[in-house]
Amino acid sequence: MVIVQKFGGSSLANEKRIRAAAEKAVRAAEQGNRVVVVVSAQGDTTDALIAQARRISTAPSRRELDAFLAAGEQMSAALMAMAIVELGCPAVSLTGAQAGIRTDGIWGDARITAVDTARLRQELEAGKIAVVAGFQGAAPNGDTVTLGRGGSDTTAVALAAYLEADKCEIYTDVDAIYDKDPRRYPDAVRYQTIGYEKMLAMAREGAQVLHDRSVELGMRFRVPIWVKSSFREGAGTVVMD
Ligand code: ASP
Ligand code: MG
Repeated sequence: MVIVQKFGGSSLANEKRIRAAAEKAVRAAEQGNRVVVVVSAQGDTTDALIAQARRISTAPSRRELDAFLAAGEQMSAALMAMAIVELGCPAVSLTGAQAGIRTDGIWGDARITAVDTARLRQELEAGKIAVVAGFQGAAPNGDTVTLGRGGSDTTAVALAAYLEADKCEIYTDVDAIYDKDPRRYPDAVRYQTIGYEKMLAMAREGAQVLHDRSVELGMRFRVPIWVKSSFREGAGTVVMD
């Protein structure tokens, strides 16, 4: 099987968590799967990078801001590849552009238009886990652009769609999708499965758990999206038809 596993910022916030995420990827590879890992920037790195850029410039160039923010995910990807290799499994980190992610080039809010999977397939064929920096892709002129806040989910679903993956797993800090925020509402109802349309409506209303464009892509390409906790075992929620 081809499996895409995405780890969000809180799931990578420190070395221990990176190692735990690397173990999940290696386990899946040892079970005979080809594994693509998509990573967010560690913890609150993106917020910190935005603040840092604003200390240099009140109105930073959108091109340079995207180049700067994309680095957060690139650092995560390289660290994750090191952690996987440390566990004895070959791995390679790739930027969004190296992974073949093409976009419309809108700074800070680019849409994925296509994925050229040749490089990814080559790395998987060679027996490596491919670790892809989320939240970014190439503009038509080759420049780095970002996909909007929370966009690593969309990277994961796009790669799953274009690789025709059997599974797309989103590892996060909640254990499932609920009808409302379970941290604020104790009576929140937990979904085992949820349809794309309902999930899309929730994401557009501001549910943070999945980037709305990841759900749109999942719906268009019929990719089931498994939302699971990084920290606890459990079935989570599957977003599907
Ligand atoms: N690091 C980016 C953000 O904070 C992208 C992501 O985490 O999905 O928005
Ligand atoms: Mg997110």
